[in-house]
Amino acid sequence: MIKFIVKNYDAVRASFFILAVLLPVSIGFLKLLEDDPETSLTHESEGGECRKLIEDLELKQTIPDKEDLDYRSWLNLGDCYAHLWRYQEALSAFKNAYVLQSSTPLLELITSLEEYLTEQVTTEERPRSFYTVMRNFGPAKHLTGKTVVAYLFIETNQSQWSSLDRQQAISTLEFAQQWYVKQAKNYQVAEPTFVNRVFHIEGDPMMSRFHSTLSIQSPSKHDDDFTRYVVSKLGFDTPSQLLEKLQQEDQADNAMLFLHLNKQARSFAWPCTYRWCEEEYTFILEPIKDPRWQSLHYTIAHEGLHLFGADDLYNIENAKTYATNDIMHYASRYLEDSEIDSLTAYAIGWSDFKPHTPFPIY
Ligand SMILES: [Zn+2]
Repeated sequence: MIKFIVKNYDAVRASFFILAVLLPVSIGFLKLLEDDPETSLTHESEGGECRKLIEDLELKQTIPDKEDLDYRSWLNLGDCYAHLWRYQEALSAFKNAYVLQSSTPLLELITSLEEYLTEQVTTEERPRSFYTVMRNFGPAKHLTGKTVVAYLFIETNQSQWSSLDRQQAISTLEFAQQWYVKQAKNYQVAEPTFVNRVFHIEGDPMMSRFHSTLSIQSPSKHDDDFTRYVVSKLGFDTPSQLLEKLQQEDQADNAMLFLHLNKQARSFAWPCTYRWCEEEYTFILEPIKDPRWQSLHYTIAHEGLHLFGADDLYNIENAKTYATNDIMHYASRYLEDSEIDSLTAYAIGWSDFKPHTPFPIY
């Protein structure tokens, strides 16, 4: 019997190509900020400024009888969307600016952005044509009620954990959970709650050997063997025994298993894809901090939703312009700019409405 059908390998890519393209042109808002020697803003406060600008300008667009946004406002808006890595919206803002005032640099920017967005999907190693719904399967059934999270810090010769690292990772986990709670408010579901149970798994030569096999780009039995070996160090025969025990102790509706290695590679999830499946987990292969973007926030939130039944959107050919801010799509720079759109909400049990999509759902 094939135990799993779908394995979601994720490359949470930093999209620096676009920023490199944008900066020489830099006609808008961010350039103004950067040019001011008095202003020493961190990326995150730039994010805040941008969110405010986007909110103001979007509001302005919705007021009837008001003039359309002018050229500079569209540029500023485009820069801000690009800063937040919301590139589809950046593209339409730049196109609106171009209609008002054409210039060669702006046209070049638009063309680069279009090329980049096309390449993103077509260069994906495994482009797909359809979406797989995995509702209600496995220990993480639906993101409602109480969820117990087994969070395992794994030590190997390539993955070491200081206590500060572990604290920061758990803060990030909590941040992602708060983000789930905030998103749930859009769907009138009972607020999800979480209990985090944290374990530190000491390394040994066997763990290091397992770690070295993890980056193989195809479904691998090694991952299962690794997970079983890790939980055996906690006194359990299988991952499901560990989750069942925690679920009972905490009287939880759902259980999730995270295995975190402090080493940059491609994170992935093995979600349950059929009803009687009992084992699912995700390997997070991400360091605590990337100064350029909230990589760990995004990864934890994204991989967690695979366990609840959501599929990827970023590698579906006809999803290029579908729900582009969804967390299962390409990453935004900061988690708070991502959303749970209707299809992901359906997959994780927040809605019974299966939305109309430009690609088939199975
Ligand atoms: Zn994914």
